[in-house]
Amino acid sequence: MNIAHWLSRTAALRGAAPALLAGEIVVADYARFARDAATLGGALATVGIAPGDRVAIFAKNSTDYLIALFGIWWAGAVAVPVNAKLHPKEAAFIFDDSGAKLAFVSSDLVTGVRAASSVAVVETGGDDWGAMLRSGGAPAIHPRKPGDLAWLFYTSGTTGRPKGVEITHAMLMATSLAYPVDVDPVEPEDAALYAAPMSHGAGLYALVHVLRGARHLVPASGGFDAGEVLELSRKLGPTSMFMAPTMVRRLTDAAKAAEETGEGIKTIVYGGGPMYVADIVEAVDWFGPKFVQIYGQGECPMGITALSRAEVADRDHPRWRERLASVGRAQSTVEVAIGSVDAEPLPLGETGEIMVRGLPVMPGYWKNPEASAKTLRGGWLMTGDVGRLDADGYLTLTDRSKDVIVSGGTNIYPREVEEALLTHPAVHEVSVVGRPSAEWGEDVVAFVVAAPGQTPYEATLDAHCRAEIARFKRPKAYRFVEDLPKNAYGKVLKTDLRARLEDEAG
Ligand code: AMP
Repeated sequence: MNIAHWLSRTAALRGAAPALLAGEIVVADYARFARDAATLGGALATVGIAPGDRVAIFAKNSTDYLIALFGIWWAGAVAVPVNAKLHPKEAAFIFDDSGAKLAFVSSDLVTGVRAASSVAVVETGGDDWGAMLRSGGAPAIHPRKPGDLAWLFYTSGTTGRPKGVEITHAMLMATSLAYPVDVDPVEPEDAALYAAPMSHGAGLYALVHVLRGARHLVPASGGFDAGEVLELSRKLGPTSMFMAPTMVRRLTDAAKAAEETGEGIKTIVYGGGPMYVADIVEAVDWFGPKFVQIYGQGECPMGITALSRAEVADRDHPRWRERLASVGRAQSTVEVAIGSVDAEPLPLGETGEIMVRGLPVMPGYWKNPEASAKTLRGGWLMTGDVGRLDADGYLTLTDRSKDVIVSGGTNIYPREVEEALLTHPAVHEVSVVGRPSAEWGEDVVAFVVAAPGQTPYEATLDAHCRAEIARFKRPKAYRFVEDLPKNAYGKVLKTDLRARLEDEAG
């Protein structure tokens, strides 16, 4: 079954319900949304896009994004959403690698794409786009099998070239249907607010909102602006949105400064990177029980674990903080285990690589059998994340396996050191990495961004660490920096930090 059926189904049932909102303006109801997607699908077929062909979307968030996504599926083609913050050359790599025959590109990015790639471009909202939407032929949805490819998801590539994760129609359905069960029920009066890139988790969450006939609210800025999110939610809520941890931090800061309570916000799903306990406690204290955590990766999109709203907010639970530091329990469609380097499950409580199997797990990487064989082993997806499970099934992530620091033969998990440093009021952001050391193998080094108006000193932070964590885990050195290098998804680039330390060493 083609996932585009979810749109035609909702259009048949609730055609007059508001579907797409650009800022505060309703630009389409469900009947119009489905008609546009169908017409675009028909137009794609007439320009030579056959079922299974790849069509890229390199665009800022907009209501057209959703029309493009469903139009591509309507035609039986494969969507290749590309993060709009990537350099056009990086986008060109993805167009090439995926063999995209066409790219829908937002106006701000067209010039860059034309300079970097020879892919055929249709500017969203431009003349050709308009002509496609007026082309008149609105064919039936092209049939797809559950295992057919729907979305090529390019990994964020914090190391090396991004790889294309194959996401099938069945995977999209599995991960979407788990959402109301494991994350948050969706009601037709809800609005999915797109604060994070649609090329990533926020776009995946569009699907269950289409199925439930909810509204899709795209902020006029096309990006993340905390003030805009607060205002739109207040005016048009109940809103639900996905946010990376850094966005939650910024939202809390902005709301506190403006004395906004987050009225209208129903749910903020956070994930995609480590959420520090101090930050989520502050967010829940300010906004109330509106937060749900998920842990996923492109290879099992949004679909590994969830920590429910009640668990995030339940201060009275004896293990509240411990659970808050975890990523919750396996979602309904997957099994999670901790494995050895040979992908053999380890006894309960041991720390090792997180392995996943179940419905939303990828069949492999696009045209990359070598990487697929390394990642899919013995029926498990090897996530590259390190963690442990407790007896109740709560999973605690320590780090990416490549970020673990081995000092004096002992593993040190940077996350633990970062959590400790973040509880110091002079620390705003921190990232901890290993530096080669002749004596220890690796030394712990902390890159620290000071809190506004504060000057953290090495000696103070060292004393703070001694009070919080084992002595051998304390950073041997500190680097005070203005900001941390991050990729287009807001993830800290530890590879860059390690390279800086190597440069220092000469
Ligand atoms: P991506 O494939 O770009 O979505 O990146 C997925 C990676 O982000 C995972 O393998 C984890 O390392 C990290 N990640 C995702 N969700 C969480 C979470 N809730 N807590 C900590 N790290 C996370």
